Amino acid sequence: MKKILCLFGTRPEIIKLAPVLRALESRPETFDVLRVASSQHVTLLHPFANHFGVRIDRDLAVMQDAQTPAQVASKILEGLGPILDDFRPDLVLVQGDTTTAMAGALASFLHRTPVGHVEAGLRSGDPNSPFPEETNRTLISRIAHYHFAATPHNVETLISEGVDASRIALTGNPVVDALQFSLAHDEPSAALKRRLDTIDQKLVVLTTHRRESFGDTMCGNLQVLRRFVEAHADVALAFPVHPNPAVLEPTREILGNVDRVHLLDPLGYPDFIELLKRAWLVVSDSGGVQEEAPTLGKALLILRENTERPEAIESGVARLVGGSPETLATMLSELYTDDRWIRRVSEIPNPFGQGDAGERIADAIETFLNPR
Ligand code: UDP
Repeated sequence: MKKILCLFGTRPEIIKLAPVLRALESRPETFDVLRVASSQHVTLLHPFANHFGVRIDRDLAVMQDAQTPAQVASKILEGLGPILDDFRPDLVLVQGDTTTAMAGALASFLHRTPVGHVEAGLRSGDPNSPFPEETNRTLISRIAHYHFAATPHNVETLISEGVDASRIALTGNPVVDALQFSLAHDEPSAALKRRLDTIDQKLVVLTTHRRESFGDTMCGNLQVLRRFVEAHADVALAFPVHPNPAVLEPTREILGNVDRVHLLDPLGYPDFIELLKRAWLVVSDSGGVQEEAPTLGKALLILRENTERPEAIESGVARLVGGSPETLATMLSELYTDDRWIRRVSEIPNPFGQGDAGERIADAIETFLNPR
């Protein structure tokens, strides 16, 4: 029996670890799993944990308003120590690039406990963008014993940085599992369906919440989208607004009370997927959406200067806007007059996996922890 401590703190971590937990929990003779939440996001994490049926065994409850990543990291370092002493895991599993994942990896290293990293090998190449995520994931790669990479490109990146190939497993990204599971088992809410049924225009779905977008870039992008909707009676916009005040306030100011602009509260997973399914075009700075859009065959404009998921662009599903709202305006007007790219995207195979990443990660953990 191997003991696995699984740590998560934000919405994307729970979405992507839920399929891994399901696979580990389906092997009770092999794995004893402890689920630890940092609650770096409180309002966004807990409903998602409930939705995916993830029981939280221990909660570090680190969230306070307006705290810095350093404060989050120090609370996790301090809070995880006694849990590691008590549970004595054979492996700590972290996901992605959050401060929770980075601090969890560091706490485990200091405790001499091996770390497994889900979604390993993503790089933008710019330590300041996304900040602090790019440096978080680079640090985790230095600490981790085992690396679960979503794509061949991620495997190559890790090897080029000196990671031993025998410690890397190519697994696909479990977000594809989560999305497929949700499509098969969940129903979107009647309230959202009713609201979306009133929209008969081309629907642009927006998400934006990254630190790099805050301020002038975000305001500029929101103004461009407002003008685009106002200029075209057959276009509507739906935006589930992130609760961060740096997003909420400019959104209310620029997009509040505009015809055909639907500002929504953050959506549960089945509702968000339903919204994406109805999109004509997705515009987003999110990481997870870059993997979900290809899974659903939706064209995506990425509101970032660079992306650590070049597969989305190389496969032809996504295009990079860069940091300039003027470029977004140009791209939107070109797509309005010629949307052949948007219509072709649904035929492109998903570069992020087939929906079996959870099982593949559980298989790889079994192999790594039980060498012959
Ligand atoms: N998401 C959601 N409801 C929303 C907006 C996003 O369920 O209203 C999901 C989305 O499907 C994606 C994840 O949240 O998988 C992305 O989280 P976020 O954008 O916070 O983080 P990132 O992926 O950029 O790290």
